[in-house]
Amino acid sequence: MQDSADAVVAVVVDEMTDYQRRVVRGMQDELAGTGVPLLVVVSHPRDVQDGQLLVRLLQTRRVRGLVVTALRVPATEGVLAAAAREAGVPVVGIARRLPGVPTVECDNRPGMRALMAHLLDEQGVRRPAFLRGDPGNPDSEQREAVFRAELAARGIPVDEALLVEGRFHHEPAFRAVSALLASGTQPDAVVAANDVMALAAVDALAAAGRRVPRDVRVTGFDDGWEADVVGITSVAQELEAQGRAAARLVLDLAAGRAAAAHARVGVRLPSRLVRRASSGAAVVERRRELEDGRGALLDRSSLDSALELSRAVSACTTVEEVVEELALRLTRLGLRQCFLVLDEAGERRLALAYVDGATSVPAPASRPVVPAERLLPAGLEERLLPARVVQVLFGHRGRHGYLVYDFDGESARARLSDVLQVDLSRALDALARERELQGYAHGLERLVSLRTRQLEAEVATRRAAEAELLRANAELERLSLVDELTGVANRRAFNAALQRAWDRCARHAAPLALVLCDVDRFKQFNDRYGHPAGDASLRAVAGVLRAVAVRGEDLPARYGGEEFALVLPATGDDGAATVAARLLDGVRRLGIEHADGVDAGLLSISAGWAVVHPVPRGEVGELVRAADDALYAAKLAGRATVVGAPLGAGRA
Ligand code: GH3
Ligand code: MG
Ligand code: MG
Repeated sequence: MQDSADAVVAVVVDEMTDYQRRVVRGMQDELAGTGVPLLVVVSHPRDVQDGQLLVRLLQTRRVRGLVVTALRVPATEGVLAAAAREAGVPVVGIARRLPGVPTVECDNRPGMRALMAHLLDEQGVRRPAFLRGDPGNPDSEQREAVFRAELAARGIPVDEALLVEGRFHHEPAFRAVSALLASGTQPDAVVAANDVMALAAVDALAAAGRRVPRDVRVTGFDDGWEADVVGITSVAQELEAQGRAAARLVLDLAAGRAAAAHARVGVRLPSRLVRRASSGAAVVERRRELEDGRGALLDRSSLDSALELSRAVSACTTVEEVVEELALRLTRLGLRQCFLVLDEAGERRLALAYVDGATSVPAPASRPVVPAERLLPAGLEERLLPARVVQVLFGHRGRHGYLVYDFDGESARARLSDVLQVDLSRALDALARERELQGYAHGLERLVSLRTRQLEAEVATRRAAEAELLRANAELERLSLVDELTGVANRRAFNAALQRAWDRCARHAAPLALVLCDVDRFKQFNDRYGHPAGDASLRAVAGVLRAVAVRGEDLPARYGGEEFALVLPATGDDGAATVAARLLDGVRRLGIEHADGVDAGLLSISAGWAVVHPVPRGEVGELVRAADDALYAAKLAGRATVVGAPLGAGRA
């Protein structure tokens, strides 16, 4: 189905522990002879679920076959298998059975048979106990079946009292073995269905004063690190062999030459006995790191560089710094090739390329775009070494990109994968979060400055409106107090001013005078000269009032149609009489023709004045009435004259 001659076999892992590394190294060894490149995808469950990198890759027809290892989130295996099937890419599982997918598995029976032979034939064991795992567990049952069969094959009867349950865990296993020893039943070996229970057996035997292996031989299963560290004989899976078998099978499937049984169910590989001190083995196997030969302990410098990188990137404040720190350490990390691709605004861009000692770091603005169907920009992907890792960089904020680098099966490289995934992703994650926050802050700032401008405009408008309102109010106030025609105080203002003057004079025990005057025969004036001329005369008379009211507190006002008033605080009889006389004289001096008037053809007024000594809370109306009476008297007296109501006239 593949279109590309250089189509890869891809293997998916979601971490690179010793387990995955050994499987992948087996695949690498197998593929090395075929010329088919190996692509190790160190993925992330969420990246797979989102159908990102790996599913994309499968759709590009550049994947010849897919090997899926047991992943931490089993559901992702199904997603991948489905995507591969859809793309017509054959899939092989390792260690986990997916429906319709052939699987490479480990057959535990050969190792178990070898273990029993080791105990019974080499160590002379005759009364072995068996520590079961969880009831009904198929692995435990399978191991027990071999245990029984091997005893039977040698004619050794099975003592059922020696088969006890340890439930795969330390505590129940310790109790079970202790109880067995306390019952008086004395086994000469404890065969545990896993390593943890073997450890518990060693502890229980020690507590009971039995020596391992001299008195009692102990064995475990799975060859986990506990067995390695404590020196417990165990059964190991051949992880490299599983990788080799998986690579072979997926190639056979792709070429349509897989045996029918293999294509259907897959391949079973034998397990292997690992002899250690706990079973009295003469040859104690070397510790695993040494056994691996090229292990982590032997590659300090790249491990140090990885740790250094981990420290350096966590201090970076920009993505460019992260790229720089990585670029600085590539040679010492022992890599021959390394490419960093970053996800930027929906595009994938090459941020760093390192090939055989030469590093190139394109400026952020000129990072080459990686086409959707490729891992690297055209021209670079062709130059990749046959075995390469794609390390997805995935953090809380999603995928940041990925690294492509060469794979040589060393465990130090596996540690590098950890550093890259954990530290690089975390650093990029922190920067992404910072960018998000900055973007948020910028957005807020913009919003704030926009609102500020809006508010400033609003404030300016409001100020203008306020000023306008003040002006309008002042105008209204003025209009409400000023007579429009003549410009002197109107009746309202007169009332208020008279009251104020009254109160002030009462406080100061001062006299208060009021002059009222009225244009004589004004009706006839209007009739003869017209209303506009009448208005003009009223304005002229008001001018006379203003001219006569010389003191600050004096208030000229229009009292009615052609009636005017003068409030004269702190003014006695003489003052009032004088002012009234000046008023009459002033009007006469205007020289306004009034043919129907009473004063030699000129406009005239009559005036009446009154003076009081205001008392607190007294009646202003009294003063007005007195002045009005006086005015009436002046009219009766023939007009163009003044009548006064002096203080001495018997009023308060
Ligand atoms: P008297 O000498 O008794 O005061 O006679 P008079 O005609 O002045 O008295 P009356 O009260 O009968 O007439 C007042 C006139 O004043 C009537 C009205 O047409 C006129 N008048 C009142 N207010 C105004 C005004 O604002 N403009 C003009 N042109 N005339 C006014
Ligand atoms: Mg009048
Ligand atoms: Mg009049």
